[in-house]
Amino acid sequence: MSQPLEPGRFFLPGPTEVRPDVLAAQAGPMIGHRGKAIQELMASIDEGLKPVFQTMRPVIISTSSATGLMEAAVRNGVLDGMVLSLVNGAFSDRFAEIARMCGCDVDVWDVEWGTAHSPDELAERLANAHYDAVTLSQSETSTGALQDLEAIAGVMNQFQETLLLVDSVTGIGGVETLTDEWGIDFILTGSQKALALPPGLAFGVANDAMLDRAAKAPGRGWYFDLDRLHSQLLEHQTPATPAISLLFALDFQLKRIGAETMDARWKRHLEMQHRTLDWAREMKERGVAVDIFAQEGHRSPTVTCLSTERSREVVFEVFSRGWVIGGGYGRLKDSTIRIGHMGDHTIDELEGLLSVLTEVMA
Ligand SMILES: *Cc1c(COP(=O)(O)O)cnc(C)c1O
Repeated sequence: MSQPLEPGRFFLPGPTEVRPDVLAAQAGPMIGHRGKAIQELMASIDEGLKPVFQTMRPVIISTSSATGLMEAAVRNGVLDGMVLSLVNGAFSDRFAEIARMCGCDVDVWDVEWGTAHSPDELAERLANAHYDAVTLSQSETSTGALQDLEAIAGVMNQFQETLLLVDSVTGIGGVETLTDEWGIDFILTGSQKALALPPGLAFGVANDAMLDRAAKAPGRGWYFDLDRLHSQLLEHQTPATPAISLLFALDFQLKRIGAETMDARWKRHLEMQHRTLDWAREMKERGVAVDIFAQEGHRSPTVTCLSTERSREVVFEVFSRGWVIGGGYGRLKDSTIRIGHMGDHTIDELEGLLSVLTEVMA
């Protein structure tokens, strides 16, 4: 095993760095998963999660990685109709694949990786065909592209029969996302991205339309039955044993996030993004062969993907200096690197990383 990194140096776009005090919070003694102690814990967690999602609704907690709730989205949100999957990278492609593997008929709307989908064109497509649901990834972690979720949700609200299912795994907690105000039917995230927790929990918010659909969906199964998860949650309970240690860390982290405030957290992510993009432009001006992968105007505050033919070498050289960034994902594996400027990272930590990257790339 290699030496552990110094704090503040782990910039993978998931899992992200977890602060030592958050890690330590997991070490509390066990409590039963039926009883007063867990109900108090769940109530405290619910209070902390609501502002994160900008919702007044209960936030569903699943002991699974985020992909579990992507599958739940499809199993609960689709009856027997078609699904329209907006695909612009590896994770939105996974969402389409999940829908297919759950037996849905899926129309894939592919656009070039690194770009985003046009809300106007979505309105046209919805006017010309009937869909039970639309799937998308708000922040495409494989390319650093950001969908205009507010505009897309605005379009979707004109088509009441079609539910919007949002993978916001690198959105929620880092990207301003107003679940209730924008009228999103179902939105989900995982613990190990912008919330800077260990992996193993997923969170989601379902509106009434989604819960009505869930109560009728024949293929929703048991473990990921949103109707069941939601009604248990109203009593601050979970249907099965939750990952109790992770809940301790979650409660602790939500108090830290509450103290920071969501406004400050979103702003800090934008600052880290802008600093990273400015740095990449500077490198390019100095003649370094590097490009920002995602289309201008559609770039995520949480992750930046950069094209470079030296991807493997850069990741290795950065690592040998005691820092971690991500290589490319999926078909971009050898042609890009990714910087996860999200979670609890600070501008100072990012400056440290960028100076190492300058040394390696310039
Ligand atoms: C990480 C990620 C996922 C998958 O999450 P898991 O927790 O690994 O299941 C899905 N979508 C996006 C956009 C991601 O970044």
